[in-house]
Amino acid sequence: MPGRYRAANGSLKPTRRHFASAIASREGLVVPRDPSALHEVVDGEFARSHPGQFAVGDIQTDRGARVTVISLYGICDRMLDSGTMYPEATLHRAISDLTPIFQERASDYVLVAGDLNLYSYSDGTIWGRRGMTVFERLAAYGLDVLGPFRRPDEPRLERCPCPDVDCRHVITFLYQSNPKNRPHQLDFFLATPRLRDRRRECWADPDLEWPQHSDHRPILTAFDV
Ligand SMILES: [Zn+2]
Repeated sequence: MPGRYRAANGSLKPTRRHFASAIASREGLVVPRDPSALHEVVDGEFARSHPGQFAVGDIQTDRGARVTVISLYGICDRMLDSGTMYPEATLHRAISDLTPIFQERASDYVLVAGDLNLYSYSDGTIWGRRGMTVFERLAAYGLDVLGPFRRPDEPRLERCPCPDVDCRHVITFLYQSNPKNRPHQLDFFLATPRLRDRRRECWADPDLEWPQHSDHRPILTAFDV
């Protein structure tokens, strides 16, 4: 059954939210893993709660390692009373869906990347605390934030909304691509310890013109595996 949303006049209409996380590769490099719809899945097998919220695939490297790559999107829901947007509910459903992949015996090399929409990241509000539970839960599967972050010798991100005196955020999102709006880092790579050890680089697109193409800035990373 297709999703629905409640329109301003109270009626239910077919959803306008069709999400499409994706993994792009040259032909045959990535072997996709396709989840079943949640209501059809065999217990303990791979399901998805929100169609298109994540994409998963495996890369077999020349050295014989398997790297599992996951593109993950933080779908925001909106509170009916206050209108506040919050992504952690759908992200926690996604983490539950991805748990059988995170816990495989062959999951030494797992990369998660995407726009998590965790706006309140460390901003000191209760909404920020709820958002941080996503990072805490991913860390329980060995998935810690890899970056991209600023180098220690770079000045901190001007007007970063986070309260961290040692803030190393890079800007990856500018609302409506308008430089007058506050910068946010919403896009991250997270990786398992063995993959983090193999990191060669992790950076944000150095092209200063990036807001002309999108309100999100591309992030990149490279590994030797
Ligand atoms: Zn910051």
